[in-house]
Amino acid sequence: MSPRHTKSRNHGSQPASQHPQDELQRHVHELFCRSLHAGTKAHKSGRGANVQGDGGGGAPRAGDPVTPPIVFSSVFFLPGDPAGPYQYGRWSNPTWSALEETLSILEDAETAIFPSGMAAVAAVLCSQLKPGDRVLLPSDAYYTSRLLADTYLAPTGVQVVTCPTAEFDRQDFAGFRLVWMETPSNPGLDICDIRRSAANAKAAGATLVADNTMPTPLGQRPLDLGADVLVSSDSKAINGHSDVVFGHVSSRDARLMAAVRDWRKVCGAIPGPFESWLVHRGLETLEIRFERMCGNAEALAPRLAGHAKVREVKFPGMPAHPAHRVAKSQMLRFGNIVGLTLSDKYSAEKFINECAVIRPTTSFGGVHTSAERRARWGDKVPQGFVRLSLGCEPLEQLWKAIQASLDAL
Ligand code: PLP
Repeated sequence: MSPRHTKSRNHGSQPASQHPQDELQRHVHELFCRSLHAGTKAHKSGRGANVQGDGGGGAPRAGDPVTPPIVFSSVFFLPGDPAGPYQYGRWSNPTWSALEETLSILEDAETAIFPSGMAAVAAVLCSQLKPGDRVLLPSDAYYTSRLLADTYLAPTGVQVVTCPTAEFDRQDFAGFRLVWMETPSNPGLDICDIRRSAANAKAAGATLVADNTMPTPLGQRPLDLGADVLVSSDSKAINGHSDVVFGHVSSRDARLMAAVRDWRKVCGAIPGPFESWLVHRGLETLEIRFERMCGNAEALAPRLAGHAKVREVKFPGMPAHPAHRVAKSQMLRFGNIVGLTLSDKYSAEKFINECAVIRPTTSFGGVHTSAERRARWGDKVPQGFVRLSLGCEPLEQLWKAIQASLDAL
């Protein structure tokens, strides 16, 4: 299950973050291509993703399937002393291995998969923190990560401290065991400087974790910018089809990954083989979907900003964003989420519910454009704030429907 990033440039060589963005972009495309063909290469080299699911190592033969098999077995042949990579379904599974190998290549770091983004978040927080430790979390980022820390870690003696994402760069990390960042923040789309936070965390001896759900590995590379570990909710763009809840953790720190895997094994928060297969399939089109979604967001953000019914647009790709310069220095794409503020709750609901191309759903990152008024969950955003997740629809059709819905307010 260990990653095979044999040709990686980022281990022991110049960090990718020191390369100009276009070179980094090429590198990320190369990783994506390599991840897409992980099985092909295994076949051609004979080193074996092993389609029989009998423990790996054997070369697939002519006539074997090219997609990973969905292995539902909870037990594996295990005579005598325990040996081999697959022994019991809570510990490992060949369908997990296929996805973990693909994600490990794309993230350029060892990856462990989880049955939800929150299971990935919990695996990092709970395996790394012990009573007496201090953890810094963003006060304005994904609410449930904070809830987990407050509900289950604080009572054990972990000190939970919060600070707004936009103020992370000015925060002193001294005394923290772990620093958690989410940039852009969900839902407010604020930005903090990953390089600077990584330097501060290193100086303080803290582990820096980045929730990279929104930008995906194609839009932002926190590990290359100095973060120690990343988590992702793959329920969003990575799977992209709004039909699976899933997550992953990636890191180049082998000890940390061993602790994360032990957490999964012992606590039993394991992904199903079918869901793993679905995410593997979704991931194969990530590059093309993300390209269209980000292009739609980049084209629509300024148009939305120019519409008379829109009070404010928040998008890291717009020069008007307070941290656009930082976003530009650390993001490969600005993502597919645009925050827009309409006059009030009523207008926001009407805009979402009456637009022909917007699905009114919580969550984001799917092929269909969706939106939600985040204040309905108590997020500290204006009542009229809409988190708009641009999908893969053709741009002009999307704009026509969105414009019509805004015009009708
Ligand atoms: N992190 C972020 C930034 C999210 O937006 C979410 C879900 O919305 C999660 C983590 C949790 O992921 P999941 O819903 O897959 O458990």
